[in-house]
Amino acid sequence: MSDLYAQLVRSRPGGLLARQVGLPRPAALERHRPGDPVIRGRVLLGGAPGAQLLEPIAATLGQAGCELASESEEQLRELLAKARLDATIYNPQAPGKQRLKALVYDATGIAGCEQLAAVHAFFHGSVRQLDTCGRVIVLGREPERCESVAQHVAQRALEGFTRSLGKEVGRGATVQLVLVSPGGEHALASTLRFLLSPRSAYVSGQVIHVASPALASGELDWERPFAGRTALVTGASRGIGAAIAQTLAQEGAHVVGLDVPALSMELAGLVERLGGEAIELDITATDAPERLAARFSEGLDVLVHNAGVTRDRTIAKMPTERWSALMEINLCSQERIDEALLDAGALREHGRIVCVSSMSGIAGNAGQTNYATSKAGAIGRVQALAPVLAERGVTINAVAPGFIETQMTAAMPIAIREAGRRMSSLRQGGEPVDVAETIAWLAHPASGGITGNVVRVCGQNLLGA
Ligand code: NAD
Repeated sequence: MSDLYAQLVRSRPGGLLARQVGLPRPAALERHRPGDPVIRGRVLLGGAPGAQLLEPIAATLGQAGCELASESEEQLRELLAKARLDATIYNPQAPGKQRLKALVYDATGIAGCEQLAAVHAFFHGSVRQLDTCGRVIVLGREPERCESVAQHVAQRALEGFTRSLGKEVGRGATVQLVLVSPGGEHALASTLRFLLSPRSAYVSGQVIHVASPALASGELDWERPFAGRTALVTGASRGIGAAIAQTLAQEGAHVVGLDVPALSMELAGLVERLGGEAIELDITATDAPERLAARFSEGLDVLVHNAGVTRDRTIAKMPTERWSALMEINLCSQERIDEALLDAGALREHGRIVCVSSMSGIAGNAGQTNYATSKAGAIGRVQALAPVLAERGVTINAVAPGFIETQMTAAMPIAIREAGRRMSSLRQGGEPVDVAETIAWLAHPASGGITGNVVRVCGQNLLGA
């Protein structure tokens, strides 16, 4: 559904009026198109004294073909030389300053609260040079694993900084904190590429954990990372599911789309366009786990649990059947399917499971106790299964969409729909492709260091942490 308000304030007269009365003016978000570079524009790389990740970060940015800028040209040149890379390095202080498309800051060296001044020193000036739809990435350490109380405090403080900066930057820019555990520095590439690129258009204010991957990722094709891999997407015939199927297929996956028999026409149309395969199946059917385990007996690489429904009522008015039917679709059947696929050994090494949760599962929502229960349960599954699956080299993560423009949100009353769109740092709803791109990053062969994460795709919605 089109966002008429955003269209109006992006026009010249509408924009002038909005500025005069102080109304929000959501920026037109840049989105990835096939063949686009990772990022268009300069990336300023900086680090606090004692920064430990500059070498792998510089190598990743260099390999991704980024134009680099640094206040310490010599240091950056040395870092690139170690990675056997060469690049033109720009000085951000040079006269006639250029805009910066991204600010990447390694804060891993910060070990006490006094040293947080370095964060201020880096961002105070550079943030003003940040371009429209710019990107800010701060890298830190997991506070719980820090060696001293002082370091724990300082590293935890970075979360408040990034979440606030996300609310300040405006003009479609996003801000994230990436916490890197020991060994995770070798698994940063897919995350940095995703967060820098327009693929992460609707992801902001997130804290992402990257750990040492259970298995090395091997040779990578960044254009078609899913080539030779099979992906099952449930609820694929429309909305977010169709976008997930399309994104994974574009990047080389053989996509098997699943949906209820009532949507067989839509599903058939989609898989035909994508050169994929259809499974007409209700995931709550008693034989669904068994049928899927048989179909994927030769192996499955990516499993996306997207199928889901809402059946809104306040708890006092909610009949038992409404509660149970939703819980079966959104949570229990998915648990049974995972169990059957894992028991049958159908999920290959390097396998990826991604569950579609919801912001309601984090923040709660009146009239959605059933939905929020199921979506919080999905997060629980991710957290409980992540360590178990790591032993098999399989990762499991969740995405939690906020307000996404689909049939589901188009059916909302106008006042709720408008509030849903504007109550976020990006001041607009997301597109199904924003959820799809986030899932493609989590499912990426190079994302073996990311497991047990819950990533919100909500434009930094003001509700929930
Ligand atoms: P949608 O209703 O357009 O699509 C859901 C799909 O799931 C449909 O194709 C439907 O047929 C399928 N499905 C439902 N029950 C099924 C069953 N028993 N077996 C097989 N397939 C089944 O909804 P959407 O907006 O695209 O949502 C996709 C997912 O994203 C859902 O899990 C939803 O809860 C979640 N989500 C959506 C939003 C949003 O703003 N649209 C926000 C947060 C979370």
